[in-house]
Amino acid sequence: MIRLPQAGFASADAIEVHHNCARCAAHCCHYVATEIDPPTSARDIDIIRWYLMHPGVRVYVDAEGCWFLQFASTCRYLGDDGRCGIYETRPQICRDLQPTACEFALGPGDRHYFTCLEEFDQWHDERQRLRRQRGRKRDRAVARNGRRGVEG
Ligand code: SF4
Ligand code: SF4
Repeated sequence: MIRLPQAGFASADAIEVHHNCARCAAHCCHYVATEIDPPTSARDIDIIRWYLMHPGVRVYVDAEGCWFLQFASTCRYLGDDGRCGIYETRPQICRDLQPTACEFALGPGDRHYFTCLEEFDQWHDERQRLRRQRGRKRDRAVARNGRRGVEG
């Protein structure tokens, strides 16, 4: 997360930079995100669609299945040199992110990442289609078992 002096530019009092951060464009300093409830109703779906109508707003589902609302916004303390301008007093959330367990290190590990309405609608339509398909299979199985019961 922290953009620190890179090899070749580091001064004697420079803080050691993790090699991942040295190669990264400070992905973690360009957004804020907050967890939201997974959508369980038509109204929830409608609200997520509304979120995604706004440029810079994204919704993602992480590897554990938790849903997040993300806003693209660059931290005002990220310097032009790519370093944190308030390193000593940066928030705990910035300290907690490990350069070996961040989006740069792990890549896009999310289950879903929606950057616009069309991507979300496509996913939702497909989910509805699969649900209908599963429902039909279930109905057929119930009907088959029912017939066996009658025949038996
Ligand atoms: S996203 Fe990871 S590698 Fe990039 S600056 Fe943040 S912690 Fe370092
Ligand atoms: S406080 Fe520093 S480390 Fe945290 S997001 Fe801002 S620039 Fe990045």
